[in-house]
Amino acid sequence: MTDDYCMSSRALRRAALAVAALAATGLATVAVAPAVSAAHPIGHLSEADALWLPNPTTVPALAATAGTTATPVHTAALTSSAYKFSSILDGAPVRWNPCQAIHWRANVARGPVGGLDVLKAAVAHIATTTGTTWVYDGATLTVPSTAYLPTTPTNTNKPVVIGWTDGTASDLLRGKPAQVLGMTRTVWFGVDDGMGHRAAATRAAVVALDRTDKLPLRGTQSWSATALHELGHVMGLDHPADTHQLMAATLPNVASYQTGDNTGLVRLGRSAGCVNIPA
Ligand SMILES: [Zn+2]
Repeated sequence: MTDDYCMSSRALRRAALAVAALAATGLATVAVAPAVSAAHPIGHLSEADALWLPNPTTVPALAATAGTTATPVHTAALTSSAYKFSSILDGAPVRWNPCQAIHWRANVARGPVGGLDVLKAAVAHIATTTGTTWVYDGATLTVPSTAYLPTTPTNTNKPVVIGWTDGTASDLLRGKPAQVLGMTRTVWFGVDDGMGHRAAATRAAVVALDRTDKLPLRGTQSWSATALHELGHVMGLDHPADTHQLMAATLPNVASYQTGDNTGLVRLGRSAGCVNIPA
């Protein structure tokens, strides 16, 4: 799963409660009982990630990387220092169905002037890089928070909500230091056929940008770079070991995706084929 080892214990408890809510609705989290022979639904709420602004006096202590949610089958092909997948299921990264449009909404009411243009450009960039289609459904006042995410798979995906908020309004930023610029949380749902085959797709995501941080709109270490980083999480990327990639946990001095970022994003996108979840 994704990777925020800087989460507060309170946030971890909330995450555990959210996963428990998934389980309570009839969904297992990831480790489903292997002996069950009938097909059954599976689902997973990611941990929220944290993107840090570099600070010469405050270096976030990042713990060693933990395992993924499932044992990778093709470990060599799935491992790279330059990109990392958030969630791996039966040897393949969990991703959106790239053959279906991804809808999104922006909450810019509390963001910087010009923020909407930055988000639209970032979404256009991720769409081009991954070969996916993104549809802007308009502005929203919905706060990007865990509560927005669905706890059961629905016939229609909820729009991705990307916006500026703060720790008072969103659990994703609650208790976070000012150096945390943004947090993303995703949820995926799928099916275990009971015969050793699992399939899943990312179905919803929220991106919370910390409105209390002052960044330039564009360029290095900007809102644009932050939005691109968070959209990488939305697509299914985790923080890689290579600190020069845009997906690094501490925002590097780059304005856009680097080679490793792009490689990982392509593997999550349209060129990797459609994702079909059996009914
Ligand atoms: Zn991140």
